[in-house]
Amino acid sequence: MKRILVSGGAGFIGSHLCTRLIKEGYYVICLDNFFTGSQDNIKHLMNEPNFRLVEHDVTFPFFVEVDEIYNLACPASPIHYQYDSIQTTKTSVLGTFNMLGLAKKVNAKILQASTSEVYGDPAIHPQPENYWGNVNPIGYRSCYDEGKRCAETLCMDYFRQNKVRVKIIRIFNTYGPRMLPNDGRVVSNFITQALKNEDITIYGDGKQTRSFQYIDDMVEGMVRMMNTEDDFTGPVNIGNTHEFSMLELAEKVIQLVGSASKIVFKPLPHDDPRQRQPDITLAKEKLGWQPTIELEEGLLRMIEYFKQI
Ligand code: NAD
Ligand code: UDP
Repeated sequence: MKRILVSGGAGFIGSHLCTRLIKEGYYVICLDNFFTGSQDNIKHLMNEPNFRLVEHDVTFPFFVEVDEIYNLACPASPIHYQYDSIQTTKTSVLGTFNMLGLAKKVNAKILQASTSEVYGDPAIHPQPENYWGNVNPIGYRSCYDEGKRCAETLCMDYFRQNKVRVKIIRIFNTYGPRMLPNDGRVVSNFITQALKNEDITIYGDGKQTRSFQYIDDMVEGMVRMMNTEDDFTGPVNIGNTHEFSMLELAEKVIQLVGSASKIVFKPLPHDDPRQRQPDITLAKEKLGWQPTIELEEGLLRMIEYFKQI
């Protein structure tokens, strides 16, 4: 039976990935230090005979015999990754270094969860994988952006120097059930506020854009990437191409919830990217993948989930 390690497996994306891998009949080891993840996210897996949970910080070495590693450990919401920015850089750099070392030792394939943040505030739109990005190396977001860029560098050097089979995906904004209501990211914030009829907080003028993908599409793309031929490293963009301004998102959420919330404007955080949309030509060609769940349907599913918790 294939044995798979998922670092960050108790987080939002990781818990959905663990669920999918268990359903496919694999043995799954979930490694997490519970910084932003929780046991609650994986409680439905705790009685599965092929599921193991290990409390561990990826910045310290870890040894286990596995065939595949999904390296997802890293806080993803700006408020959380800026809470202890040094630990965020350590998690991306030392954590990826440790996971690559493990992959080398046990001859496992490893998939690195990179991010659209490697493009920074992009000067090219939409962003193809061969765009090198426009990232501030000394700003408040740098611990995340530069940490993830360095993690990609490490992956490619382990591939070239040590023949480790690496796979890099650049994930664009993803939303869905199991995001925490206090996660701080825009979709969870707006839905939480709308359900309570509280003010919807738009940062800046709301004209900045993002392209949001639903969690199920994301997990599908990630698993397909792991299953590509051995010498295909990526990076590959995984995201939905439909781009919305934060103003449009706020209006859509208010309409779908039927909320009495009013929109209010707050200061824009430092280095907030103005626009973001993936070019997914490569994902279509190499993975036969494209998103299937559009924003309205995904938001409705997430609204239902947030009503129940
Ligand atoms: P999340 O914060 O819900 O999950 C991250 C998980 O990693 C949590 O369970 C957390 O406890 C764990 N973790 C953090 N530091 C750790 C450490 N040092 N050791 C062990 N575990 C640690 O975030 P998410 O949205 O599920 O993101 C998962 C991955 O996908 C991250 O690597 C993130 O950078 C990447 N990503 C996510 C998005 C998105 O929109 N959600 C976009 C781009 C990239
Ligand atoms: N944002 C907002 N209101 C909020 C939370 C976020 O207007 O309550 C904005 C934020 O400034 C950014 C966009 O929404 O322009 C997406 O923010 P998020 O933190 O979800 O993701 P990221 O900036 O990392 O893409």
